[in-house]
Amino acid sequence: MDFPPLREELRGLEPYGAPQLSLDVAPVQLNVNENPYPPSPAVVAEIASAVAQAASGLNRYPDRELVALREALAGYLGHGVRPEQVWAANGSNEVMLQLLQAFGGPGRTALSFAPTYSMYPEYARDTVTDWVVGAREDDFGLDLDRARALVEEVRPSVVLLPSPNNPTGTALPPAAVTVLCEAVGDGGIVVVDEAYGEFRRAGTPSALELLPRHRNLVVTRTMSKAFALAGARLGYLAADPAVCDAIRVVRLPYHLSAVTQAVALAALRHAPELLGQVDRLREERDACEAWLRGQGLSAAESDANFVLFGTFADRHAVWQGLLDRGVLVRETGPEGWLRVSIGTPDEMMAFRTALTEVLARVARVTPVTPVTRSQG
Ligand SMILES: *Cc1c(COP(=O)(O)O)cnc(C)c1O
Repeated sequence: MDFPPLREELRGLEPYGAPQLSLDVAPVQLNVNENPYPPSPAVVAEIASAVAQAASGLNRYPDRELVALREALAGYLGHGVRPEQVWAANGSNEVMLQLLQAFGGPGRTALSFAPTYSMYPEYARDTVTDWVVGAREDDFGLDLDRARALVEEVRPSVVLLPSPNNPTGTALPPAAVTVLCEAVGDGGIVVVDEAYGEFRRAGTPSALELLPRHRNLVVTRTMSKAFALAGARLGYLAADPAVCDAIRVVRLPYHLSAVTQAVALAALRHAPELLGQVDRLREERDACEAWLRGQGLSAAESDANFVLFGTFADRHAVWQGLLDRGVLVRETGPEGWLRVSIGTPDEMMAFRTALTEVLARVARVTPVTPVTRSQG
């Protein structure tokens, strides 16, 4: 008998996660899509005083229903979203797990389209939900007829659609969300993961606009990326109130600490300031994309705070070459591609300098299909 008596399907698995290297080894960290700008001293002071106030009541359990926080998040989202349509947890990853706990499970299927967020299959596995993954097109968009046919074949109870997608950065048009919501019907939910929603380019709509039309639509967001609050662990969703009520059945009691709630509320009071660097990051992203293409590389059209670029015959060699020069990017996505998060202007300069040196040494591959934006 093996010890510990782990579930069969978990035996021998490594915990998932991007390498966390020290700043000595990798002074330029562009691998987990963090916002490079820390909160200002004024916001830090506000958060600290909110935490001090929460600390004086830490003998009590926190508000289990997150009433004040759900109100503040609804106000932030706009689009007519009401507090009873909002739910929050420790990062949108926990929101996603709760969705699978409530709507997945044995005998049920979760569906996504590759390339997609690498954590989804783990949450499906952990909740004993079957996992089916369809394919995106060469431009990383969805062929809607094929997607609909796959839904009709698989009858998923949960469809997971990151948009803007990770790792490609590409956003889905509203028509794709509508087609999938209609194909899934009342037999399932369609989760549009907008972790990078605030980085969308002008003219790219949010799935929030579609909430009044589809009661099976769930839009998830996070404070980890645009809000520059990855360390606080706060993710949330907007959906039909019945979806929020269903999640309340599976969530752990008092899952969101009083400290987390206080931090998130303080941050939301300073939303404009915390989001103040988003425009800069979007400009830097567009410049990075253009620069990569200027080097003769392919770069996916990004609505996020990162760019997927390639393609390389040996992407690991390029990743290692960059790391040898102190720049940590992410080896992820389809074979031959790498992903770089958008950092400060200095960090992006370091990335460009390092990549130029590395490119002089390594072989590239020309992709079969040039990547262009196919969606309106
Ligand atoms: C970063 C990211 C999240 C956010 O995760 P948190 O748990 O909120 O930090 C969610 N979905 C995708 C696709 C992401 O890339």
